Amino acid sequence: MTVLAEAPWTSTGTKVTAVRTFLTAPQGPPYLVVRVETSQPGLYGLGCASDPQRTLAVRSVIDDYLGPMLLGRDPGDIEDIHRLLLNSGYWRGGSIEGNALAGIDVALWDIKAKAAGLPLFSLLGGRVREGAAAYTHVHGSEADEIIDLVEAAVTRGFRHVRVQVSVPGTDTYGAGPLSRGRDGHWDSLAYLRMVPEVLGAVRQGVPDGTELLHDVHERLTPAQARRFLAAVEDLHLFFAEDVLAPEDAAHFAGLRACGVPLAMGELFHDVSQFLPLVQRRLIDFARIRIPALGGLTPVRKLVAACELNGIRIAPHGPGDVSPIGQAANLALDISAHSFGIQEAATPTEATLDVFPGTPVPEQGQLHPSLTPGLGVEFDEKKARRYPPPEPGDHDRWALLRATDGSAHRP
Ligand code: MG
Repeated sequence: MTVLAEAPWTSTGTKVTAVRTFLTAPQGPPYLVVRVETSQPGLYGLGCASDPQRTLAVRSVIDDYLGPMLLGRDPGDIEDIHRLLLNSGYWRGGSIEGNALAGIDVALWDIKAKAAGLPLFSLLGGRVREGAAAYTHVHGSEADEIIDLVEAAVTRGFRHVRVQVSVPGTDTYGAGPLSRGRDGHWDSLAYLRMVPEVLGAVRQGVPDGTELLHDVHERLTPAQARRFLAAVEDLHLFFAEDVLAPEDAAHFAGLRACGVPLAMGELFHDVSQFLPLVQRRLIDFARIRIPALGGLTPVRKLVAACELNGIRIAPHGPGDVSPIGQAANLALDISAHSFGIQEAATPTEATLDVFPGTPVPEQGQLHPSLTPGLGVEFDEKKARRYPPPEPGDHDRWALLRATDGSAHRP
């Protein structure tokens, strides 16, 4: 078994005794939960390593490689452990390793906060706000239908609502779970013709003070993205998300003249991918996915860079981030001045049952637990009632084709 370099300093005496992984799907997507146990009775930490499309590969990296290396280490040496685990693979990085590292890293932060008797946000600098403003999702095919849904969300207390539009004849992202069939295809022109118009009508129809967001989901070319942003420039969106794919990120410079706030980053798996956009102030919101990026240890450095460059954070928090991951998001949101907005799913009853302490939006806000650590628990027995889908059952991302039949990004 590979062992990590010994620490040339005196340990606190507490040691990691086990690293265990669990798969469960109470919300639908597979959640990979990491539990790091220690030699101190009752002291353990939980982390989220959920990558819905590569779950079993992430689990193997933890179970077969990283977890065994952690045994016997002082769980308090988080920075050192993170760097040693990262360096243990000569070809560092990638989303699979990022998720594996993140599951362990967040569990170590949970342990540190529990050992200190403090909520995690307190270790990250303490509270700077009472709650984190959250946004919810709505979708529909016509403006009137969408306006009703936005009004319902506003009535539930949300001030920020992401609006996705179903476009006849094309397979629009986020406009219904069944919209992506085997014969689904993507037609950029149909999207560009209809979506700005519907968003404009929605803007006119929703209550004053409602903030609208939209996710392009990397479906457009750079030229199409410019056209889209010009068409929605007067709608005062809170942000337009992923107007470009990560592979086209160099084109963000060409979009900066538009007046639409831009959000980017949920597909990045290394914090260094954000740097060109952050340093040149080419985006307004960093979409941080803590699991993909290797955990809180690298992410808190990115958050500091965002603050220094006037960019706000908008952590990724849809239904495929477990409640443990969402609690880690919330610890950042509550402690970072650069916080902008938090994406929030509505937890199912099953999720609330498996993860006591799951953050739940109330009046459009998420509030952190004041109990030590992340404040979320995990019921292993109940988790077994919700087995994860088979790997082949969540490969829908690979189904999309463009109008000419060529493969298209999801
Ligand atoms: Mg998105």
